Amino acid sequence: MPDKNVSAIVIGGGPAGLTAAIALAAGGIETVLVGKRPAAADNRTTALLAGSVSALTALGVWEHCADNAAPLRVMRIVDDTGRLWRAPEVKFEAQEIGLEAFGHNIENRHLVAALERRARGLSSLRIVEDEVLAVTPRERAATVALKSGESLTAQLIVGADGRRSLCRDAAGIGIDAQDYPQVALTVCLKHSRPHRDTSTEFHTPSGPFTLVPLPGNRSSLVWVLEPADADVLAALDDAELAGEIERASHSILGKIEVERGRGQFPLTRANARRFAANRIALVGEAAHVIPPIGAQGLNLGLRDAATIGELAVAAQRGGRDIGGINVLVAYDRLRRSDVGSRSLAVDLLNRTLLTDFLPVQGARGLGLYLIDRIGPLRRALMREGVAPKSSQPKLMRGETI
Ligand SMILES: Cc1cc2nc3c(=O)[nH]c(=O)nc-3n(C[C@H](O)[C@H](O)[C@H](O)COP(=O)(O)OP(=O)(O)OC[C@H]3O[C@@H](n4cnc5c(N)ncnc54)[C@H](O)[C@@H]3O)c2cc1C
Repeated sequence: MPDKNVSAIVIGGGPAGLTAAIALAAGGIETVLVGKRPAAADNRTTALLAGSVSALTALGVWEHCADNAAPLRVMRIVDDTGRLWRAPEVKFEAQEIGLEAFGHNIENRHLVAALERRARGLSSLRIVEDEVLAVTPRERAATVALKSGESLTAQLIVGADGRRSLCRDAAGIGIDAQDYPQVALTVCLKHSRPHRDTSTEFHTPSGPFTLVPLPGNRSSLVWVLEPADADVLAALDDAELAGEIERASHSILGKIEVERGRGQFPLTRANARRFAANRIALVGEAAHVIPPIGAQGLNLGLRDAATIGELAVAAQRGGRDIGGINVLVAYDRLRRSDVGSRSLAVDLLNRTLLTDFLPVQGARGLGLYLIDRIGPLRRALMREGVAPKSSQPKLMRGETI
């Protein structure tokens, strides 16, 4: 079968890949998205920060999400470590920095369905449900071999094929990875008391226990635990697990009912040593994996997608090579500090919870105390959390590309 030529190929149909494909195609780049069905249903939710919501709005996706998303207007951090040096409760309110909400929480199945709906409506985007077996970069283009036997060639490959990325290997990019002695247990809940658009993060000695609002009297839970404890909880029946959650949440949401679809995710941190090389740009978890603390992972992935979209569209409009060295170097430079700084911050926060070293516990408590008491510091942190100054592609500002 002869190779088919297109301008860009996105590999991986998860949320990062779909967003990259929509950004490229909406900007007029002839794009093919190749994705294989994920092995298991994704029952997680994603807290999308305001910049991500602006990007999805500009891309025509948010209108298909809005009914299934809950606003996050208040975020509380409660020290539940029971340790000697305990921090005060810290409350962040979106209205303090002039926002209606920090962002919105949505179930991944609704987010992916909305992205797929928008993707199918774009004439410059073809979706191929297949598995990529090999990517071969060459000087002027890269070739992608599919399981069906079809072969495609493009100037730019966007590798959005998740944490075990074949694209990353094909680009010759190494990875620095580290596992934590923790597992995140995930489940969605119904509860008798309203959440009042408030996300509550209890800091426990094994990691955060985070409740995030969903529409109605529902929330999602990410409970970071030691692996053996996660196994014990995962083996409980629904009523027993609900009782444990109610106890750990100090009944702030009243009576709990757990919904179907629990998940367990070992905590890992991984960073690709470069974000692009040899005609391949990495986005989402192909480029970085971050523990699910502070809702950073996919927000970074969407900024990756927006950035490669913006750079490639500008190159095409300027008559330049969309997968050439200039685009790839600029992409690597623009994504490096944003990903590096967030990955480091999440790692530090997690380590200060796990440590038994008293001075570090004290420093963490003092840090939270200062954030609670010093308004300008708290507001600067909130602004940086929602919209990082150093990395604001146009889409994150709600502009089209
Ligand atoms: C418990 C938990 C909670 C989280 N909560 C949040 C949150 O609140 N906010 C936030 O921003 N982030 C959150 N994250 C992070 C977020 O879930 C991930 O960043 C996101 O799911 C990664 O999306 P992705 O598209 O990069 O990868 P994936 O979703 O893994 O998609 C990769 C896709 O590539 C496909 N694929 C792989 N290989 C091939 C191939 N060879 N050929 C074709 N297709 C292929 C796969 O089938 C898959 O569909 C959380 C993570 C965890 C674990």
